[in-house]
Amino acid sequence: RVDDNLLKAANAKYQWHPMVHPKRLEQDPPLIIARGRGAVVEDLDGKSYVDGVAGLWCVNVGHGRKEVIDAIQAQLAQIAYFSPFDGTTTPPSILLSQKLIEMTQPEDMARVLFSNGGSDAVETAMKLSRQYWRLKGQPQRVKFISLMNAYHGTHIGGVSMNGIPSFRANYEPLLPNCYQVECPWIYRNPWTNDPKELARICADALAREIEFQGPDTVAAFFAEPIQGAGGVIVPPETYWPLVREVCDRYGVLLVADEVVTGFGRSGAMFGSRGWGVKPDIMCLAKGLSSGYVPLGATLFNKRVVSAWDDDATFTGAIMHGYTYTGHAVACAAALACLEIVEREDLPGRAAAMGARLLDGLKPLEQSSAVVGNVRGKGLMIAIDLVADKETREPIDPGEGLAYRLADAARAHGAIVRPVGTKLILSPPLVISEEQVDVIANALKEAFRVAV
Ligand code: PMP
Repeated sequence: RVDDNLLKAANAKYQWHPMVHPKRLEQDPPLIIARGRGAVVEDLDGKSYVDGVAGLWCVNVGHGRKEVIDAIQAQLAQIAYFSPFDGTTTPPSILLSQKLIEMTQPEDMARVLFSNGGSDAVETAMKLSRQYWRLKGQPQRVKFISLMNAYHGTHIGGVSMNGIPSFRANYEPLLPNCYQVECPWIYRNPWTNDPKELARICADALAREIEFQGPDTVAAFFAEPIQGAGGVIVPPETYWPLVREVCDRYGVLLVADEVVTGFGRSGAMFGSRGWGVKPDIMCLAKGLSSGYVPLGATLFNKRVVSAWDDDATFTGAIMHGYTYTGHAVACAAALACLEIVEREDLPGRAAAMGARLLDGLKPLEQSSAVVGNVRGKGLMIAIDLVADKETREPIDPGEGLAYRLADAARAHGAIVRPVGTKLILSPPLVISEEQVDVIANALKEAFRVAV
């Protein structure tokens, strides 16, 4: 066992931490999380916190689940790794593909391509949607449309579709042929307070963009069923059905980036299912293996798969695979996680606990001068911090209020996520009522002391 003092001395000295200023790290080194059980984690000194972020939107089944640990250990004892490239495979990757296709029968999904995480799952969807159109004899369909405020991961492809400017800056030039349209954000939009009208306006914006680009040049429209990293933007109920109609009208593939919303987080098994919509392609990661091991998967429906199945000449070989595509240990872990998600009805639990957490936090809109909006669905919740409630102008992120609030919440026993002008909450779906209340009370206290 490594000496705790050595760990503390080395903390923040050698590692670059994404999205944290090095100066801040010097003053306030990262909290060292050492252990976790269920929805509670413990730091190196043994202090406990309710995990209000599920690692990073991922530990849906909770920390320390014996079923998952046993599955990982048992599989690890079988083989280190073997590739799915050259006529070989491993039992867990077969079983997990079968399980995923069974789970997505309502969406008509037909085949799975595994990867290492969400960014990979998105990249896979981008490349294979272009290849789909080549196989269909329309190689000019290469453009991607996505939403403002979207987050589609960290690879250059995903970044080119991201709609959050800070993730794009410094990495340009990005991919050409990527375009963004307005996202349906009821709290911040220049048009209307009426959800149905907003849904129509934003779906029309997508149709107009497709027309403007030329329908026969657009490969796919990508969107998160609920925007996560952009600040938990829950679209109006009618938005996704309208988007499906628009994509159908122009033949454009609809890709649901379910990396966050997949496997129960939004209160439905999949976010797109929650909106009553069948995408053509689904990107999955995070909750798939609940953070125990890295794993991503992209699912393709019958329409997409038929292009390959009809390809007699094998020009459709998929020249896209990662060394760890379908890693046996990751797939075994995911099988154990999905069994828990279904057995414990974690989508239902996320809906109930999310409603309780939202109820607990909503009063902040009245009691705090800086809380403009508390919103969410299932266990995806955000608190929007504003400088002016009337104009809804966001706080100046440079002043660090979100960080101060997160630090204060931590001192009161809950870890929440500061992101610029927002606090984001996404606890494990196994969270109990008492633990939900710990988060709500820690935040109430944080707003009292830190503002
Ligand atoms: N898509 C969405 C919607 C995400 O939220 C994320 C990660 N937060 C990604 C893709 C990228 O996933 P990863 O970080 O596993 O590469």
